[in-house]
Amino acid sequence: MAPATIRFGGDGRGDDPPFPDAICHRCVHLRLIRSGKGSVFLMCKEPTLPKYPPQPVRACRGFVPKPPATG
Ligand code: SF4
Repeated sequence: MAPATIRFGGDGRGDDPPFPDAICHRCVHLRLIRSGKGSVFLMCKEPTLPKYPPQPVRACRGFVPKPPATG
C-alpha cells in the first residue's frame, strides 16, 4: 500500500510547503499537521514555545538543526 501523499502550499494547499522561508523547516522540532480539508500547518514540538508560532519564523531560541540527510 502506497503511503498517503501530503500536499502543501503557500497557504497550506498545493505543492509547496507553507512558509518555505521559515527556519522551522530545518528544525527538529517541526511537525507538519494536515487538517481534514487538506490544509497543512507548521506545529512546533519544542515544549517551552507556542505550538503555532506566528509564521514565518526567522529566528528562534529553540531552533535545533535537523541532521543532514543520508543516503
Ligand atoms: S523550535 Fe523554533 S524553529 Fe524549531 S520548529 Fe519550533 S518555532 Fe520553529
